[in-house]
Formats: sequence, structure tokens, C-alpha cells
Amino acid sequence: MDSLLDKHWHHLSPEEVMDLLGTDPDTGLDILEAKRRLAEFGANVLTGRPGKTALERLLLQFHQPLVYILIVAAVVTAVLGEWVDAWVICGVVLVNAVVGYVQEAKAVKALAALSATMKAEATLVRGGKTSRVDAAQLVPGDVIILRSGDKAPADVRIVWSRELRVDESSLTGESLPVEKSPAAVARSAVLAERTGMAYAGTLVAYGQGLGVVTATGGSTELGRIAGLVEAADELETPLTRKIAKFSHLLLVVILALAAVTFFIGILRGEPASHMFMAAVALAVGAIPEGLPAAMTIILAVGVSRMAARKAVIRRLPAVETLGGVTVVCSDKTGTLTENQMTVREIFAGEHYAEVTGAGYSLAGDIVPQNAGPDNRALSRCLLAGLLCNDATVESGGDRPAIQGDPTEAALVVAAAKGGFWADAARAGYLRLDTLPFESEHQYMATLHQVDEARAAFLKGSAEQILARCDTVLGPDGAPGPLDREAMLRVVDAMAAKGLRVLALAEKAMPGDGRQVGHGDVASGGVFLGFQGMLDPPRPEAVAAVAAFRKAGVRVKMITGDHAVTAVAVGNMLGLGVDVCRDDPACKALTGAQLAAIGDEELIGRVQETSVFARVSPEQKLRLVMALQARGEVAAMTGDGVNDAPALKQADIGVAMGRSGTDAAKEAADMVLTDDNFATIAAAVEEGRGVFDNLIKFIVWTLPTNLGEGLVILAAFVFGTALPILPVQILWINMTTAGSLGLMLAFEPREPGIMDRPPRAPDRPILGAYLAGRILLVGVALLVASFGLFEWELALGSSPESARTVAVNVFVMAEAVYLFNARSFFRSPFAIGFFSNPYVIGGVGLMAALQLLYTYAPVMNALFGSAPIGLGAWGKIAAASVVIFCIVELEKRLRRDISI
Ligand code: ADP
Ligand code: MG
Repeated sequence: MDSLLDKHWHHLSPEEVMDLLGTDPDTGLDILEAKRRLAEFGANVLTGRPGKTALERLLLQFHQPLVYILIVAAVVTAVLGEWVDAWVICGVVLVNAVVGYVQEAKAVKALAALSATMKAEATLVRGGKTSRVDAAQLVPGDVIILRSGDKAPADVRIVWSRELRVDESSLTGESLPVEKSPAAVARSAVLAERTGMAYAGTLVAYGQGLGVVTATGGSTELGRIAGLVEAADELETPLTRKIAKFSHLLLVVILALAAVTFFIGILRGEPASHMFMAAVALAVGAIPEGLPAAMTIILAVGVSRMAARKAVIRRLPAVETLGGVTVVCSDKTGTLTENQMTVREIFAGEHYAEVTGAGYSLAGDIVPQNAGPDNRALSRCLLAGLLCNDATVESGGDRPAIQGDPTEAALVVAAAKGGFWADAARAGYLRLDTLPFESEHQYMATLHQVDEARAAFLKGSAEQILARCDTVLGPDGAPGPLDREAMLRVVDAMAAKGLRVLALAEKAMPGDGRQVGHGDVASGGVFLGFQGMLDPPRPEAVAAVAAFRKAGVRVKMITGDHAVTAVAVGNMLGLGVDVCRDDPACKALTGAQLAAIGDEELIGRVQETSVFARVSPEQKLRLVMALQARGEVAAMTGDGVNDAPALKQADIGVAMGRSGTDAAKEAADMVLTDDNFATIAAAVEEGRGVFDNLIKFIVWTLPTNLGEGLVILAAFVFGTALPILPVQILWINMTTAGSLGLMLAFEPREPGIMDRPPRAPDRPILGAYLAGRILLVGVALLVASFGLFEWELALGSSPESARTVAVNVFVMAEAVYLFNARSFFRSPFAIGFFSNPYVIGGVGLMAALQLLYTYAPVMNALFGSAPIGLGAWGKIAAASVVIFCIVELEKRLRRDISI
């Protein structure tokens, strides 16, 4: 079997392929043989490498302007003979790199693990049975079914196809889907020309196919070229990019300032070594070195919080963007509603019938309203619903289990209530061919052998089916003239009750063709009737819609369903469509209306319309773009293959974990593992919390850098000794960021976070309010540390002790300020000093570190610190408390200003 790997499968006929692989297209491999092959070839998984190797990642940690400065500083201090300083700086550089590396690796691993929880699946024919299985089980020779939206789970030789088109852009770069068919191609054909093959990782864009697996796992073309194509290693977000830009600017300013300080000092006649130390201190002090790592960690904490609430983030930036979402566009069926369809009402043969019973239980009856018991059209309508159908309902056990589309399962159940049993009916009317349901066609057709003749059955939206019919079946079983207008009024009446209406039709097919195409059923059908099914809104979706409204986020329902049904369901959900009851245009826009209006007009109307009905997936893209043209940050849900472009375009593309196709998941930023609309609200709430915490960290950390920079400048201006040395500044920055600031990542969400409007996308990160606080605290730190340093010196302390006091001022004030920083507006007395245990732990750790720093001889030697007395501690504590009170006072005075 080893030689299998070198076969030119594309060049062999389907028969030869099946022969070589010892398989059969109808029954697939037998189970024992498949087991044996699994042992031989291994599981169908890619043990691919991530985008960057570990070494590359580690080296990249050094590729930062700050690190360059530190390395230069280390070299120069070494040249000056300050060996201890040089070693300490090198140590800091290393620690910084290792911490950054570990954090980044953790974040990447967490994202990858989340993606991996969404297993690839395949529709496998094995041992004569068809089922959805984990794609890892596939072996060469397995027969699989490919449908639009599927990702090819392995390399596959196509043996049967129907309008099969595959998007191979991930492999060949070709952006247009390629037509696939069983025919063999030349042996020399390159990958892009092998139309008889579907390669692992490519996406079925359209149609259906049957294929035989030729290679799995690492032997696939994908496995050979690259390993995992899409390693989730994007760690940049709009905010981190803004911050990176800001820190570059900061760096230039600081370097210029440091250079000026240096040269003025030299001109003044200060010793070069002294001035160099000042310049280095200024540079390392003013740069927030902990910022990038802290950002990644805060985002990563957000990812895991969201995952706990069933929203799996596929791209890290989405965590942050989620917090700024201003409009959510959601599918109706299955996301806003339960996707638990039950036929409630049937209209056939001029009469209504009511259907009793609930869910997919077969218990229930069809109760005709004012018509005799033998309404022939009614039974025909039920039969058509059963035959033009791929779903099965298993009534055994206490809960009926359904396979396939819930809409179709409902029709199976209705048929059973009317006395038609799926197995018997489907055996009596052998199906020859199928036109599968696709959202853009809005109908499905099947071709059946009925005794000697052939007949097609159709089901779909009222508009599409009525357009294909000329006559209508009467209660007596004879076709009569079809009044489309009257029928559409029936649809409206049913839809107004919130029912999803399916129309059914049949058509005798002359001749003995074994295939059915769209052209064959374009006209001449006999209309059989409507079945109206109820799909109740999810109770939690109703609550989520209300929550979004409070949070200033607009919700729009986008559906392929009928406008009247959509508006009725929208009203049940509280989308506010009944507010404009008198103006039908404001209630809902239909796909047809969308097609008729230009982009300009759409941009004008997209805001006030909350229901979009009979929308094709392509129109979703237009809607997203129209919303974005208005400056909205839009989330859009989707599940089908045609939704992918809209998901990509949306600021947050949301795919359904259960019902979604691989294509949609691939395009999405976030996947809902429970397909539930309420999960989007949960994710937005978490996103807002994450954004808050990012800002809180920035507001907490920048005053330290500002304060340190100011202290150095002040020392220079007043011509005094440096109150803090470069290594001491590094100590402060590294330890406070790690043990204090990071604890803000675990800060719980502020209450009322979903009661405030979304942040405007164009608002600067720091408004005047928070920038003012940073300035205030920075200056307070300057005054406190510089003041106490000079005071200590005046009292006759050694410079070492005085510096230790200055360092402890920074650290203790930062620890106390951490409690201020936990909330933008509320005081720690309101939120409770102990409500974030991480903060308490961090403060404890910091205190221990500071005691070591001050009293341990090793630390004294390394950092030039020295023990200080109780009186000094008292002054440090007093200064910190004063800073705490200043900030709280400021909060109180400026409470009404928005951040
Ligand atoms: P949505 O998922 O937004 O409710 P769909 O695209 O699934 O919209 O359905 C649009 C319309 O297509 C439905 O209103 C119904 O009339 C019809 N339809 C839905 N599912 C099927 C199906 N399996 N077979 C035939 N027609 C269908
Ligand atoms: Mg649907």
C-alpha cells in the first residue's frame, strides 16, 4: 500500500482509483478494513507547525526599540566599568524577553487550542452507512460526500459530481472556485488543473460530490506544503497598534530629550559617565516596557472568559473590537429562534387544517377546518413534503431525534400525523435525483419514479414555488386554475402569525430522464398547498435583544424568510418593528427592494430598518458595507458558504458552531458553540470588560513612567544627584507591572457595563478625563519621590538610603494607586478593597519584593539600595495615602465627565 502515495490519482479513471484503493462508491470501505488502514496510515490530522518557530518568536522579543536601548546601555555601562549595572541590565533584557515569549506562546497556544476544539467533520460512507464523523478517522479508500460549505477533509478523487465547484485559493491562490468533475486529466497536469481532485483544506463553494480519499494527514498536498495553513498567531489589535505607534513616538521624544540632557550636561562640565547615566535613566524610565506584554495577557484572559461563555475567538483582535460593536446583524432561524420547527397550519385544497402536537413528537393530529375528511390536496401536500426532503425523525426513545434540516424534519412529522410513514413512502417513490436547497434559489426539487412514470416534487418559498406552477390541486384531486394573488394573501395571513411558510408542488415529468435541472421545473407545476410551521423565539434571545438595546447596540434581523413572518418574529423578540406599524417600508426591507435601491439610499435607510427579509447571502455583504459606511462597528452572523464574504467584511464575523459550514467558520472572527444569539451579547459584554481593563492598565502604568522621567529631568534642572538610577528604574517598572498592574487583567466587569453606549470607534484611547489623571498622578509621584529624596539627604542619609526611599515611594504609591485604578469613576470604598483577590495577592508579593530590595544584602549589592528606617517608611506611606486621596477627590469632582 505504500506505493499508494506516489500514484497520479488525477490521471486515473474513477474506476481505476476505486480498484486500486479497494473500495466501492455505494458502500465505502468495510469497517474492519478501515480500522486496519487507520493503523497503517495513521489519523488524518496535520501535525503542522505554527506560523513562527519558537526560536523566531524568542528572537523577536529582542527586536524592540526599548531592548536596543537597554543593550546599548549595558555595553556602555560595561565600558565605564560599572559591571554590576551592566549585568543587571542584561538580566532585565533576558527576563523581559523570556516573560514576553512565555506570555505570547501561551496566548497563541490558547487560541490554537480553542480552534482545535472545533473538530473538522466529514460525511462518510462506510460499511454501507452514511454518517457525520470526525475527519481524523478518514483513511485512503474512504468514500465521502462533499456538499457546499464543506472543507475537503483529505485529498479526494472525485467519482461523481453535480455542479461541484471548489474554492482552492488556500492552495493555489486562485480566487475563483474551480469546477470539479470525475474525468481524468493529463498526468502532467499541475495542481490547479487537476479538476478530478479536491484537495484537503479547500472549500466546496457550490454543488455536491462523491469522492474517494486518496491521501490523509501529512501525505496530503496541504500537509506537504505547509502544515497548518492558518496558524492563529495574529496578536495585534487596533489598540495595540495605536499603542505601538504611540510608543515609537514616545521613544523618539525620549531619545531626543536624553541626548539634549546629555550634551547640555557635558557643556556644563558634568562628568560624561554621570550624564550618561542620567540619559539612560531617562530613556528606560519613560518607556512603558510592561505595556505590550500586559496587553496580550489582558486580551488572552478575555479570550478564555469568552470561551467560558461559549464564544470561541478565532482572532485575538476580535476581543477588543467586540467591546466597540455598535450594531449586530443576526440570522433569524436557529440563532434568534430555537430552530425547533413544528407545522401548525396547512392550507391545501382551498381549506385550512390545524395540526396539533408539539416538537418533533409524532403524537398529534391533522384537524381539517370545514372540509370533508378526504381532502386529496391535503394528503398530496403532506406526501410532497415528505418526499422532497432529506431529513429523518427517529421517534424511538423518550425524545425524538432528528437528522438533517429542522424545516424538513417538521414536514416529516406533519406527514406522519397525516398517516404517511417516511420509510414506506420513500420506498414507494424511488428518488432518482435531487436539486438541493440553496438559500439563493429558495426551493428544492426531487425527481421520483412513480410506477412507470416520473414526477418531480418541489418545496420552497411561496414566491418561488407559485412562480413555477400554473394550476392548483383541488380537494377532489383535480387541478384547477391558480389564482396567485389569492394564494399570496393566504401566505400573508399565515405569516402574520409568525409561521414560516413552505409551499409544495408537483409536476409530472414526461420522458425517462434520470436527472432534474432548474430548467425542468421552471413552469408547469401543480400547486399543492402551504405548510406553516412555528419556530418560537429563544427566550434568552428576547432578553439579549433588550440588553443590547440598553447598551446602545442596534440589532437587525436578517433572514431568507418571508417579510411578514420575519416582522412577526421580530415583534415577538422586541426588535421594535411594531413602532412603525403604519409605515411598511420601515418595518422590513426585502431582498427585492434591496436590489432595487442604490448604495446611497441603502446607506440612508439601513439604520432605521431592523428586519431584512428574503435576503440572499450576497446582499448581506452590501448591508455590512452600508453600515460600515455610516461608521458603525458591525457584527454579522452567518452559517452558509455564501455568508463567508459578509463575515470577512464585518468587523466581527460570527459563525455558528453547530449548524455552520466550515467555510463560514473559517471566515469568522468568533464562533458560537451554542448557535445562540444571547452568546453574542455575552461576548460583547466581556469585550467591553476587556477594553476597560486595557484602558485601566494604561491609566495605571503611564504615571509611573511620566513620574520617573520628570524626576530625572528635575534632578538635571536643579543640578542634583539622581534620585533613582537606571537599574532601579528598571526594577520599579518590571516588578510593578508584573505583580501589580497585571492583576487588572482579572478585574471583574464594572456593573452597568451594558447600560452605557458603545464607545465611539473614532474616539481617542485616552480622553481628557483619563489623560488628566495620568498627568496628575505623574506630577504627584515627582513631588513625592523627589521631595522625600532631598529630605532624606538633608537629614544626613547616605545617597543609597535616600534613593531607596525614592524607589519605595514609587512602588508603594503605585500599589495604592492600583486601588484607584480599578474603577474609572467609583471609589474603592464602593467596589470593596478586597473584591479582586488577585490585586491583594499582587500587593502582598510586591511588599515582599520591596522588603528584599531594601534589606537583603544581595539586592543592596545589585541595585545599590540600602536599609531605611521606620521614620522613612512612615513618610513613604503618608505620601502614598495623599496620592490616593487626591485621585479619589479628583474622581468625585469630575464624576460627570465621560471617559
Ligand atoms: P433563514 O435561515 O433566514 O430562515 P432560509 O434561507 O433558510 O432562511 O430560508 C428561506 C426560505 O427558503 C424559507 O422561508 C423557506 O420558504 C425556504 N426554505 C427553507 N428551507 C428549505 C428547505 N430545506 N427546502 C426548501 N425550501 C426551504
Ligand atoms: Mg436556514
